Amino acid sequence: MAKILILGAGYGGMAAAVKMQKSKIPFTIVNKHSYHYFTTLLHEPAGGRNDFEPYYVEISDILQESEAAIVKDTIVEIHPEEKRVIGERDEYTYDYLVFALGNAPEFFGIPGLAEHSLLLRSLESAKEIRSHIENMFAAYAVDKDPSRIRIVVGGAGLTGVELCGEMAEWLPHLASRYRIPDSKIELINLEAAPTILPMLDKRLQDTAREVLESKGARIRTNEKIVRVGEGEVELATGEKIEAKTMIWTGGVRANPLLAQAGFDCDPRGRARVNEFLQSVDYPDVFVMGDSAAFVGEDGRPLPPTAQLASQMGDHVADNLNYLLNGQPMKKFTFDYMGTLASLGSEVGVGNVKGFSTKGVAATVMKEASKIKWLINLGGISLLARKNRQFTRSH
Ligand SMILES: Cc1cc2nc3c(=O)[nH]c(=O)nc-3n(C[C@H](O)[C@H](O)[C@H](O)COP(=O)(O)OP(=O)(O)OC[C@H]3O[C@@H](n4cnc5c(N)ncnc54)[C@H](O)[C@@H]3O)c2cc1C
Repeated sequence: MAKILILGAGYGGMAAAVKMQKSKIPFTIVNKHSYHYFTTLLHEPAGGRNDFEPYYVEISDILQESEAAIVKDTIVEIHPEEKRVIGERDEYTYDYLVFALGNAPEFFGIPGLAEHSLLLRSLESAKEIRSHIENMFAAYAVDKDPSRIRIVVGGAGLTGVELCGEMAEWLPHLASRYRIPDSKIELINLEAAPTILPMLDKRLQDTAREVLESKGARIRTNEKIVRVGEGEVELATGEKIEAKTMIWTGGVRANPLLAQAGFDCDPRGRARVNEFLQSVDYPDVFVMGDSAAFVGEDGRPLPPTAQLASQMGDHVADNLNYLLNGQPMKKFTFDYMGTLASLGSEVGVGNVKGFSTKGVAATVMKEASKIKWLINLGGISLLARKNRQFTRSH
């Protein structure tokens, strides 16, 4: 029996694992945590909505021992020539490797940004953001240093905008807990490009901006961050913003292990893959999600999203099944469903299959995509369990 090794239990890795389990193909899945977290929703608990419990699920609650060996380890090296992977705890060999280790932050060489900013990329980082902001508000109540309640979010793509939407709702509640007047809080979203949410049309971008500004956020486009220091963000104009919270959402690149292992990568570090999602260098390595450079119809790599990662995961599981049964593999095609951005708990903007949507309708559609993922992972029972947790933690 061929040894299949999946690295990463995010959207791509879990989609592949669930499909392989259904096809009764045995595999090992290695992930740095024992749980899978819902990255696309992390702005909610980071920005004060709900407890953290609804936003993750133990991998062992989804995958059964009969097909899946679940290993908690952090991968540190890949040796594709030797079909060997090294983790902090152990070494793993494979016949087929499925690489789904997601992304790493892109700091664009901005001095001090890596050292002095918080990131929203995992359950722990979401917890860190929330507790950091709570600590800053508590400290402000004592020393009245305004930079403690001035929050800067760098980047106004999906992550930055969704996080601002949550925080714009949460910060006034936090302020009232510490008897701080709302007027003293500042939430600033800095974006180097002329627009926010570049994947949406101008009308939806304008709506998103209006909604966020009506909730008290300041959206500043055409503002390039050139340096970040301890408690200070410097702009290209020379302006310095004193803020003890700087959250960077401005870019991602692929997991660096691919480039380190010598895979042929694009400038964002994503391994180039063929139409079957195999690495162009090593046909026994499938790469997916944020780590893969899959060229779309416009000749450019498809942008990294959870919907792309999960469709790729599904497809890789099918192709492995074909390979193991001596059948020809199928070419991957991406079915773009659209993009939805929440602007707090009640409204959102987006497009679905080419149709624009905004307001409560967008929130309902975003909820539908969450439900779809939960059912795909663990059926109705997981959906019911998570719904109970969401209701309890409101
Ligand atoms: C706040 C936010 C909102 C988003 N909203 C949307 C949205 O609405 N729609 C959408 O389509 N996309 C959205 N995205 C993007 C989406 O989450 C990513 O594109 C998607 O998670 C990529 O899937 P992946 O499987 O490639 O990687 P991931 O889902 O990141 O999974 C990688 C996994 O590998 C593990 N891992 C990483 N390094 C190691 C290592 N060295 N050893 C072991 N394990 C490791 C990680 O812990 C993780 O479990 C959002 C992202 C964020 C941050």
